[in-house]
Amino acid sequence: MTTYEWADTEVEPIAKALIAEVKDHEDLVHARILYVFRDKHALSRGHAILGKARKVAGLTQFLVDDESIDAPLFVLEFPRDLWKEMTDQQRRALVDHELSHLAVERNDDGIWVGRTRGHDVEEFLAIVKRHGLWKADVQALAKVAAGQLALDLDDPAAADDEDEQPTTPASPDDEEWERAAPGLRVVPDPFAGNGAAR
Ligand SMILES: [Zn+2]
Repeated sequence: MTTYEWADTEVEPIAKALIAEVKDHEDLVHARILYVFRDKHALSRGHAILGKARKVAGLTQFLVDDESIDAPLFVLEFPRDLWKEMTDQQRRALVDHELSHLAVERNDDGIWVGRTRGHDVEEFLAIVKRHGLWKADVQALAKVAAGQLALDLDDPAAADDEDEQPTTPASPDDEEWERAAPGLRVVPDPFAGNGAAR
């Protein structure tokens, strides 16, 4: 049987720092977020699940947290067994990822409401291998990834220094990131050829 425990002491400081530093997350100050560990990771079609983001509403929200009934409530769940094996940098990336699934916005009455959102990019590695950067979201991911790779190659120390890491994700049309990516080939026409970034 899966058992759960609160993960506040380990996860909340990372999440709070990200919400304070990352512009994409700034509205999450209007949400209440609970952090839990499950004892062992679950599998989804053979892949380990690293984290889960849930919105909690209605009766469940009332039962969990009746004082914050007006604030959107979310639960982030992490598998303790895999969390233990991660580096600080991986943990920060994972928490940043799960926070990115959370969104809050004001409704017409000025009340903050929450929702979860999906990934920017959904693709199989094999498809990128066979067909290259064939659609806009995959092209955008490759551009950002190539920028990261180039930064690491330019400055081997960057990976070990938190301060050198960008606190906001580069947008695909960020000129600086493109310059930082020599050798990147993004195919403007998806069917012009096999143009995977090398
Ligand atoms: Zn995700």
